[in-house]
Amino acid sequence: MRWRDLRRSQNVEDVRGRTRGLGGGGGLKIGGLGLLVMLVIAWFLGANPLQLLALLAGGGGGLTVPSESGIDETAPPATPGAEAQDEGAQFVSAILADTEDTWNEIFQKNGRQYEEPRLVLFTDVVRSACGTAQSAMGPFYCPLDQKVYIDLGFYRDLEQRFGAAGDFAQAYVIAHEVGHHVQNQLGIAERVHAQKQQLPEAQANALSVLMELQADCYAGVWGHSAAQRGHLETGDVDEGLRAASSIGDDRLQRQSGGMVSPDSFTHGSSAQRVEWFRRGLESGDPNRCDTFR
Ligand SMILES: [Zn+2]
Repeated sequence: MRWRDLRRSQNVEDVRGRTRGLGGGGGLKIGGLGLLVMLVIAWFLGANPLQLLALLAGGGGGLTVPSESGIDETAPPATPGAEAQDEGAQFVSAILADTEDTWNEIFQKNGRQYEEPRLVLFTDVVRSACGTAQSAMGPFYCPLDQKVYIDLGFYRDLEQRFGAAGDFAQAYVIAHEVGHHVQNQLGIAERVHAQKQQLPEAQANALSVLMELQADCYAGVWGHSAAQRGHLETGDVDEGLRAASSIGDDRLQRQSGGMVSPDSFTHGSSAQRVEWFRRGLESGDPNRCDTFR
């Protein structure tokens, strides 16, 4: 990707290094470990861990963070818009800005106002309005505070464990999370959440898959826009498609030694993710991303 000349976003919050006692490669503290185990179990049962977190956070009393969770309560608040200088942060900031340009334009064309999401860079563990999250969960979007959360260590995983290397693959991950924000802005997330309450688990999971595939399609819409503005290089699209296929639920489950069982899919199979990403990428039209039809 040609990203260095892109403008930087004002919406990046850098809270990296604001955890304590978690040095040496992401060891987990007890409080966080219990939560993680719960989320993994939820995932295997087919629930979306993030929704579980959101539920816990919203369900009265909230999700309290144990003091041993590693969050440094005494650290000063992050400066909004403060620019991190390292390469990884610069890249994320440039891609986020590019998604802002893309979605601002699309919303404007449709007579709507796009509220830009914020993006939080963290290490190991982070507290969001949806509860406390560990890096192991991967990047996520929290609809309650409208922020995307990412530990840049995920990119190492993407490359080493899932074989998806390259800057466009990394950008795709951000664009997918921003896609969830777009769903939130359009009221889709709320509508689907309400529908899921009325359905048996397997059908509710199927709706979660459709949400994920739509976010992939929206990531493709951004890719289309980036290509039109000349930001892509040869091979970028392949990188994105490889990323989409390598983090499909079937691949993830196979890698973790589990049996592939469609009922517990919450992100869609590799083939589905590629198909919807490609649809957004080729059309550049979010109306083509109606996975619910
Ligand atoms: Zn997602």
